[in-house]
Amino acid sequence: MKSTYLEKQYQAFKERYPNEKEYLQALHHVMVSIDEIIDDHPEYQKYNIIERLSEPERLISFRVTWLDDEGNVCVNRGYRVQHSALIGPYKGGLRFHPSVSQSVLKFLAFEQTFKNSLTGLGMGGGKGGSDFDPKGKSDREIMTFCQAFMRELFHHLGEDVDVPAGDIGVGQREIGYLYGYYKKLTNQVTGTLTGRDISIGGSLVRKEATGYGLVYFVEAALKKIKDTSLEGKKVIISGSGNVAIYAAEKVQEFGGTVVAMSDSSGFIHCEKGVDLEAIKTIKEEKRERIETYPDYDARGKYHEDPSKMWEIDADIALPCATQNELDENSVKHLIKNKVMMVAEGANMPTTEKAIEMLRESHILFAPGKAANAGGVLVSGLEMAQTAQFDSWDFDKINKRLKDMMESIFEAIYKTAKDYDQENDLQFGVNVYSFKKLAHAMIIQGVV
Ligand code: NDP
Repeated sequence: MKSTYLEKQYQAFKERYPNEKEYLQALHHVMVSIDEIIDDHPEYQKYNIIERLSEPERLISFRVTWLDDEGNVCVNRGYRVQHSALIGPYKGGLRFHPSVSQSVLKFLAFEQTFKNSLTGLGMGGGKGGSDFDPKGKSDREIMTFCQAFMRELFHHLGEDVDVPAGDIGVGQREIGYLYGYYKKLTNQVTGTLTGRDISIGGSLVRKEATGYGLVYFVEAALKKIKDTSLEGKKVIISGSGNVAIYAAEKVQEFGGTVVAMSDSSGFIHCEKGVDLEAIKTIKEEKRERIETYPDYDARGKYHEDPSKMWEIDADIALPCATQNELDENSVKHLIKNKVMMVAEGANMPTTEKAIEMLRESHILFAPGKAANAGGVLVSGLEMAQTAQFDSWDFDKINKRLKDMMESIFEAIYKTAKDYDQENDLQFGVNVYSFKKLAHAMIIQGVV
């Protein structure tokens, strides 16, 4: 970094949290962008904005004790990182995955704060979850775990305090169990979790929101920067979960061909385009591995090692699985194959080195903080519908999602352009959100 002030701040965080590599990585992304503007903003130093925005307001960690189907007493760790309530109640998903740690949730909550500020809705940032692994668990075990998790978490939630949603390993089933138990414990029927099934006050388009929103963002960027569209493009999408499936659906609707999808064990390659109904059956209905895809569609070939998927020739790559899945080795193949754009459906799926390589190769890069904001945006609309005791139709919400994703693209594109960093959407999003949050922080005093 050029600024010795910022470098010192970053080194101080490194010393304070030496083992939190994902969190430090997320901070570094933002600081590198702020480095370009810090000299023009003495107020950021005066009010110590960098340190205050980087440190979570509150970090809750707790033990989750539950009984499995054999009667064994199991223990997991649970967390909620309430990063910032600067512009509204803490808002962000819950993740159940063995890789969950304090560092992972701190990075996610930090990024969520930036993302939520883009939506124009009053939402702060948070993230939570557990190192519980839902894979292979019975439905009863999932419910038992969700209830044990909520027994601790409910103390810290509330419709005007902290409103969680889903993330990896937490879909509508888990949200249903968490919400049911939250109501039991509090005797209050409020919309304190979003991503609920439509029958219990959820919103239409929430399930599709992140994937659809990603593709609306990609389409807007391709149009403005590359003077083209998704029509006729070959697209590779990592993951086959909530984000990946609905990104694939929208890509197909826009005339693109999804040639590959993956899970954590392997990927399928289907040159003529994946059969999305088969993917939905495998992943949403049967909760099986993607390995079974050829049983549904013989044109698809299964390969082990999901990282090899990036070697497939394509025009656009959408990493929609997990953090740091797209590294320098994988990006080498994308560059060799002259990919035109990489857009992050997942949170921080691209390593710093890989982003640098994309930038040097002039490949358009859309950071997740902006490109995957559609999910939280529709969660915000779910909160609005609950508050109004109303439910809106699919087309109305979908149009709002599309309009908002286009506005987010325009805002960050313009920010980058205004600072002579044209087409650097990573710079655009970091600076745009940071300025908004810094302003909100300054006008609320030292609290
Ligand atoms: P899901 O749990 O629904 O799906 C995750 C998918 O990624 C699964 O198919 C999983 O496979 C796969 N996966 C995990 N690790 C790898 C890997 N190393 N290589 C290939 N595939 C892998 O999660 P979501 O779709 O909800 O979330 C995906 C990402 O999007 C996360 O980063 C999340 O934070 C982000 N996101 C999600 C939002 C949402 O609304 N859901 C909103 C904004 C961001 P397997 O089944 O084998 O584990």
